[in-house]
Amino acid sequence: MAHYSAFSLLRHGLSRAPWPRAWREHDLRRSYDVVIIGGGVHGLATAYYLAANHGIRNVAVLDKGYLGGGGSGRNTAILRSNYLTPEGVRFYDRSLELYRHLAAELNFNVMFSRRGHLTLAHNDSSLRTMRWRAEVNKLSRVDSEVIDTAEVARLVPALDTSSAVRYPILGALYHPPGGIIRHDAVVWGYARAADALGVHLHQQTEVTGIDVDAGSRVTGVRTSRGPISAPVVLNSTAGWSSTVSDLAGVRTPVQTFPLQAAVSEPVRPFLHAVVVSGTLHVYVSQTDRGELVFGASVDPFTSYSMRGSLEFAEGLAAHVLELMPGLSKMRLLRQWAGLCDMTPDFSPIMGTTPVEGFYLDVGWGTYGFKAGPVSGEAMAEAIATRATPGIIAAFGLDRFDNGKLVGEKGAAAVGH
Ligand SMILES: Cc1cc2nc3c(=O)[nH]c(=O)nc-3n(C[C@H](O)[C@H](O)[C@H](O)COP(=O)(O)OP(=O)(O)OC[C@H]3O[C@@H](n4cnc5c(N)ncnc54)[C@H](O)[C@@H]3O)c2cc1C
Repeated sequence: MAHYSAFSLLRHGLSRAPWPRAWREHDLRRSYDVVIIGGGVHGLATAYYLAANHGIRNVAVLDKGYLGGGGSGRNTAILRSNYLTPEGVRFYDRSLELYRHLAAELNFNVMFSRRGHLTLAHNDSSLRTMRWRAEVNKLSRVDSEVIDTAEVARLVPALDTSSAVRYPILGALYHPPGGIIRHDAVVWGYARAADALGVHLHQQTEVTGIDVDAGSRVTGVRTSRGPISAPVVLNSTAGWSSTVSDLAGVRTPVQTFPLQAAVSEPVRPFLHAVVVSGTLHVYVSQTDRGELVFGASVDPFTSYSMRGSLEFAEGLAAHVLELMPGLSKMRLLRQWAGLCDMTPDFSPIMGTTPVEGFYLDVGWGTYGFKAGPVSGEAMAEAIATRATPGIIAAFGLDRFDNGKLVGEKGAAAVGH
């Protein structure tokens, strides 16, 4: 793997030698120790940690499109760990910790920008939930507190904090460690590092069948480029995950909804925190290039469509202007959509299934990008040790049978 540094940049600049490709292409082997379906951040991180932490390198990542072509290349890249349940807080905080050191670990600038995250409260019940979240967060040593309107105005002067609006801002949950990252860089960084450790990355390779023997053990997959035998198969296909689980005969309580986002023209930096309003179903951050990135809640119907809609753009603009009237002259540059695999309790489904060797890392809904590193680390450990790591024990598929749900709706309902 080429080492990226100021020195190598200078050397390549002077010599004009081309950079080596970030990852290689390989022939498809007829057998792998582990097949990972889905080349998003989850599949790639799992492949990387299997090789890096456990020495399991005979691994293939299969994607029907291109790496990062799913939610991993379409999200708004917000990172935070101020969730509602102790299980969720502990889990997402480990991911934030891994993200903090990811650039050095992967030798790839993932542009993590820690800038603070504000969830606005527009009514008493939101304030109550935020106090609850802040207390749960503090118990897990996550920096999170409820602040008043004056403090909100100091942190984000562009917000209309007056009382002459439809939904006045009564306060906010403030989470200083939250921030944004460059999603493509995370995907490419994991792909490059996994490739360097011997993992095979196969794009344009669709899984069309999953083979399960009479003893209910997975034996391999069928793909658009031929069959592959493997004793372990991981489903990390997010928005498509229920269709892939169905191939193995495993039913999951996952429904797929589109989630849309939009980006504005670039303007001089003025927004130094991520701002979320659950009441107005909108959130906004500003990239290092100056564009405003807007997101919302999922579309109100299940679908596999990834097209933006005019209704979304209109609704988004109206809600953003309620929060920040000063943006009224700003132009939207583009909008897009991705697919979100929603679970009933807004928490993921991770671990084993009734089919031996067939693992799930799904149910990432609108919030799974931030979980990429910890999920990869935990799924790699689960596969390598054949034991469920404590950090994902609460997220098993069996919770929908035994009723031990991990309710995160109060902290995850607005997309991100
Ligand atoms: C607009 C939007 C904004 C979001 N914002 C945030 C945010 O700010 N923060 C956050 O944490 N999360 C956010 N999310 C959610 C996040 O993007 C996802 O949860 C996350 O990227 C899921 O990653 P993944 O690796 O599991 O799946 P994906 O990145 O979706 O990858 C799945 C891959 O599986 C492949 N695949 C599917 N079927 C098959 C098959 N049969 N054979 C082979 N390959 C197959 C697809 O081609 C795809 O590349 C957002 C999502 C959207 C859409």
